[in-house]
Amino acid sequence: MLKTEKIWFDGELVPWEEANVHVLTHTLHYGVGVFEGIRCYKCIEGGSAVFRLKEHVQRLFHSAKAVEMEIPFSVEEVAEAIVETLKVNKLEEGYIRPLAFIGSGAMGVHPGKNPVHLVIAVWPWGAYLGEEALKKGIRVKTSSFTRHHVNIMMTKAKVCGNYVNSVLAKREAVADGYDEALMLDPEGYVAEATGENIFIVRNSIIKTPPLDSILPGITRDSLITLAKDMGYEVVEQRFTRDELYSADEAFFCGTAAEVTPIREVDRRVIGSGQAGPTALLLQSEYFKIVKGDNLKYAGWLTKFEI
Ligand code: PMP
Repeated sequence: MLKTEKIWFDGELVPWEEANVHVLTHTLHYGVGVFEGIRCYKCIEGGSAVFRLKEHVQRLFHSAKAVEMEIPFSVEEVAEAIVETLKVNKLEEGYIRPLAFIGSGAMGVHPGKNPVHLVIAVWPWGAYLGEEALKKGIRVKTSSFTRHHVNIMMTKAKVCGNYVNSVLAKREAVADGYDEALMLDPEGYVAEATGENIFIVRNSIIKTPPLDSILPGITRDSLITLAKDMGYEVVEQRFTRDELYSADEAFFCGTAAEVTPIREVDRRVIGSGQAGPTALLLQSEYFKIVKGDNLKYAGWLTKFEI
């Protein structure tokens, strides 16, 4: 990971090496913290833009509400702080990680009146699953770990502790020689991946699981809008792993993974065994949008200059 100079910490910009916490930080022990993953891109016409900044910051606050954390800043202040952190670090293109966590004080499970802190780190980050993955597609394995039940975790919230499930699944998939894990919900339906939402394509109809036990991905939302605008039929409907096996195409999406085609699941070749044409088309349109090369979606961009 390529570090940058400063991290925004409770309103101050502190040197990267000094953005540290006490070992008795409550979140470190019990996992109740909330975070975001956001990207900014260099624009075709100059300058840079953060993609769907407002929606990401709003989701951070919704996540905090779900786990009863009060972030001591407003949505507007956090959005401004993100742009400020990018500018201070002269980061034209990269990844943005806001994290709200519960500090030290009470050490029981109940966090009592422990303070809530907010940090914003930014760093350069290329393709999450590799450049090859974007072009050729990835190999996926259904995880032996089930995605959370909606009454066990707050599945629509991006809560630190939820990601233990993701880390277990990702490690298992990688150790078994795959690129990413596919996670099924407690009833056995396809849910999402460890940090991505999933789509399949069959007879030109695009399908994605509904927002029940999955993270409401902002890339997912963007692709649904884009695909509909391009004339595709998009349905939000549960499907099983065997429907995925026989799909014409499948792909993952997320801020980090962008639009990543899937070429194989559980040793079954998906479609032609290469990145599918719909996935590649949506990927190229997505990259145009995030780089300011499709003005129809300019409202999704928060432009800034270094
Ligand atoms: N599902 C999970 C579990 C994730 O961690 C992410 C990444 N935030 C996504 C889906 C995709 O969400 P987004 O498009 O908002 O990055």
